[in-house]
Amino acid sequence: MDKRRASVLSTLGVERYSARAKRSDACDERGSLAHLGATDETIAAFGWDELATTVAACTRCALSATRTNTVFGVGDQRARWFVVGEAPGADEDAKGEPFVGRGGQLLTSVLRAAGLSREQVFIANVLKCRPPENRNPTPDEVRCCKPYLERQIALVKPSLIFCVGQIAAQSLLGVDTPISKLRGAVHEYGPDKIPTVITYHPAYLLRSPRNKQKTWDDLRFAMGVAGGVGA
Ligand code: SF4
Repeated sequence: MDKRRASVLSTLGVERYSARAKRSDACDERGSLAHLGATDETIAAFGWDELATTVAACTRCALSATRTNTVFGVGDQRARWFVVGEAPGADEDAKGEPFVGRGGQLLTSVLRAAGLSREQVFIANVLKCRPPENRNPTPDEVRCCKPYLERQIALVKPSLIFCVGQIAAQSLLGVDTPISKLRGAVHEYGPDKIPTVITYHPAYLLRSPRNKQKTWDDLRFAMGVAGGVGA
């Protein structure tokens, strides 16, 4: 495009429009993932290695500027249970691993009550980078990051998704229903209609321990949905 035409289009705002349209394809405020070819469509075809490499270098949203580490997820890539959380906290950001703080210890206890070790499930968050001050994810951040989680779930092919916390549940299911109405029911995720059970986030239980009993109820319910056993 010659300079004069660019100047005219710029005056008309056309340059801005076309740049924005290009960015929306890649979900990237700066277009900086273009060199990795990581559009939503290409992410949906990635294998584990490509997925991990792309997440580690991801700059799709502004959280890339404030994270210490990306938090990809851990566990058995062929697990029956897939645990979905909201986003990394300070401990997770420091270690690059999900659910490693006090909340993580509580999650490990909950899983153990179902006869599952951390190594027997796959654990990942909706967001792979920590929101500053542990604020809630923005809708744009969820939109940018969710293709990674969707691909992880597609690769694991779990028989049950155990989703912890209202934000994670709403982000995963694409609803704005409060957790009080999401608990105690079997939801279906994705084209394979994977049974999904919702419970409280461990960090919430640490603040409101009186709700631990409800979490055990949710766990028993999830075990029933999964066929009576965890593993
Ligand atoms: S939160 Fe997700 S989309 Fe945003 S930079 Fe991190 S990995 Fe990329």
